[in-house]
Amino acid sequence: MRHRIAVVGCGPAGLAFARVLHRHGYPVTVFERDPSPDARPPGGTLDLHEGLGQLALDKAGLLAEFQALSRPEGQAMRILDTDGTVLRDWRPRPDDRANPEIDRGQLRDLLLGPLDVQWGRGVTQVVPGTRDGVLVQFADGRQETFDLVVGADGARSRVRPAVSSVTPHYTGVTSVETSLDDVDARHPGLARLIGDGALGVYGVNRALVAQRNSGGHVKVYAQFRAPLDWHRHLDLADVEAVRSSLLALFDGWAAPVLDLLRHGTSFVHRPLYVLPVSHTWAHVPGVTLLGDAAHLMPPLGAGANLAMLEGAELAEVVASGPEDLDEAVRAFEVQMWERAGRWAKMTTAGLDRLVSPDPAEALALFDEVQPS
Ligand SMILES: Cc1cc2nc3c(=O)[nH]c(=O)nc-3n(C[C@H](O)[C@H](O)[C@H](O)COP(=O)(O)OP(=O)(O)OC[C@H]3O[C@@H](n4cnc5c(N)ncnc54)[C@H](O)[C@@H]3O)c2cc1C
Repeated sequence: MRHRIAVVGCGPAGLAFARVLHRHGYPVTVFERDPSPDARPPGGTLDLHEGLGQLALDKAGLLAEFQALSRPEGQAMRILDTDGTVLRDWRPRPDDRANPEIDRGQLRDLLLGPLDVQWGRGVTQVVPGTRDGVLVQFADGRQETFDLVVGADGARSRVRPAVSSVTPHYTGVTSVETSLDDVDARHPGLARLIGDGALGVYGVNRALVAQRNSGGHVKVYAQFRAPLDWHRHLDLADVEAVRSSLLALFDGWAAPVLDLLRHGTSFVHRPLYVLPVSHTWAHVPGVTLLGDAAHLMPPLGAGANLAMLEGAELAEVVASGPEDLDEAVRAFEVQMWERAGRWAKMTTAGLDRLVSPDPAEALALFDEVQPS
């Protein structure tokens, strides 16, 4: 029996779910709030791990295409002291495919492929248990009903309240993002400093991270511990005011490192929010969550990977045509919570060590996780 399935959100979770269902010939309705795929910048680069994001792409039949698009050299990582001394310089072996990087936009297009997405359909509320199934209400006033609604609508999920009253809380760490274009031609010194992958510089309660995307584009993240209202005397729309304020925060760091901020084009303020580690809920028939909607955690390279694998796995559960779909979703949730809980614990501890009063903790963390 074919159920009426809807997924809300076209991020890694929703797209992996829809694409694997599509591969199995199972119909799914995909709703996305953005009016079109290119309505806003797609964001930076993602490293997809072998047993997580790459496994999801395999389940979608897209692994070979991913391998052609991704950047294994992007696995390189350099760590500098705040005075500019190079502390570590890891480079991947030529055959290393453990965590290659891919631009978010490229990944989105790869997953989108033939999917028929309903763009510009922002969901406002999901009401389970109506006579005809789960009711989905949209910002444009329309409503539709389904047998299963999958909330893959990210950190500020509008589906989540149907299963859980929990909301994300601030970690105490803020990130301000900027970027550099055409770095090899315009800023060759910075291009050498960053190397082929990422650069991390760790000071007391501060970090500067630069990450290569494709086409000479670099994203820079200034991360620091601060109260949520740290910018109350600052106009966040004033690029030069934000730049000066960041340069003051990172005062005393080596000049070439601060050039990452001096040459940044614009600044985007992103305080880091998380859901509680091991966020679970009492199962609600006909509604479930995936990815950040279910387990928003610090951005330490796991969120999109988990989101994609969960999407692919849930799609396989649905496509296998279980006798009792709701019971199968309930079992999937238990498995998702267990794995996500482990990662949430690790990434929470990781953020504490990366943006820490003792910068030696950041280096020790990298020494533990980087292959020697
Ligand atoms: C700076 C940074 C770097 C990161 N790097 C990595 C990395 O290297 N590797 C990694 O694994 N993870 C990384 N992450 C985490 C990763 O980005 C997220 O975990 C991942 O995007 C979650 O995917 P998702 O599909 O659950 O949600 P999202 O990517 O947030 O997608 C949600 C989608 O739902 C749509 N939507 C939202 N509300 C509605 C609504 N009401 N109605 C309809 N549609 C809606 C949104 O427009 C969006 O398209 C990083 C995060 C950050 C901030």
